[in-house]
Amino acid sequence: MKRATILPAIAALALGLSVQTANAQSSNKALEALPHHLQARVQQRQNNLLPPGVSVGQGVVSGLKAWQPNRFPITVCFFGGSSDLRRRIMDVALEWTKHGANIPLDFGNPSNPRICTNQESDIKVGFNYRGYWSTIGQDSRDLVGANEQSMNFAHWDVAPASEPEFSSTVLHEFGHALAFQHEHQHPYSDCEKEFDFDKIYVELADHPNFWNKEKVDFNMRGLSGNGIVTTKFDRASIMLYTFAPHFYKQGVSSKCYSTANQVLSQGDKKQAAEVYPATVAAAAAARAKAVATFTTAVNTSSASSAARLRSLQEVQVLGVPGLSEIQRAQTLQNLQAPMQLN
Ligand SMILES: [Zn+2]
Repeated sequence: MKRATILPAIAALALGLSVQTANAQSSNKALEALPHHLQARVQQRQNNLLPPGVSVGQGVVSGLKAWQPNRFPITVCFFGGSSDLRRRIMDVALEWTKHGANIPLDFGNPSNPRICTNQESDIKVGFNYRGYWSTIGQDSRDLVGANEQSMNFAHWDVAPASEPEFSSTVLHEFGHALAFQHEHQHPYSDCEKEFDFDKIYVELADHPNFWNKEKVDFNMRGLSGNGIVTTKFDRASIMLYTFAPHFYKQGVSSKCYSTANQVLSQGDKKQAAEVYPATVAAAAAARAKAVATFTTAVNTSSASSAARLRSLQEVQVLGVPGLSEIQRAQTLQNLQAPMQLN
């Protein structure tokens, strides 16, 4: 989410919600966070992938979560929303595909974008939760069922946001769905050092977020480096989250502070072309490199043999080319069985 979710009073009353005041700089704003059931699955996956003893750059993990050509096109569906709203979201999201990257987003009929059915789509957009959020890359398919949302635009089917919030939010959430993480968690940003965590823990524990320390850390701490994504920290990125100035020790002079970015930056376009190269062969080579890096890290780790096996299986679910849907489902089912890590 880029900004506070402000529902018009009439929609809020109809939904039985309290009305928030519109103040972009206020700390009293709802931040972007996955609902509990999805965050639990993401953390479970993270624990399976990186059990104690396994250390690998988060950039590798993000690279592995990028959609693979064997899964192209990347299908998108909507749980409701008028055809006009679905078209508007589609038109904005397609901006990601226009700058040299090979990102075949498929919305079905462009004049009446696809409605979600039991025939599972990759990215499943809905309007039924609070706030704005999306799962990361192939998690949208692997961890989210056909009848569940993988992306949310709070109640836009009743009252869509106005511009520029509408477009910047769609670009940001589709960035997540294409496997891009928050820029403030960029391995090389050091934004973690810029944040005033003592203040942030206290403030976000309160209305309207009610985040515990774990949730703050999950959403705000830096991701480890040594990844395959080589772009530098980009203050203009659509993936840089806008926090209130007092969240930073140095306020507005922090290098990580940004007023809302509203369009794709040059860095966003470059990174998209890097993660989704123009040819299938280049994509396969990038993936093979990431898998090899990951496998070496796991096999040379101090994790138990059971944990190493689990870790390598989890990577298979992250879309190894050639893994059939049946194999994927079977692997996922095995992974969901409780296992003792030692
Ligand atoms: Zn975000």
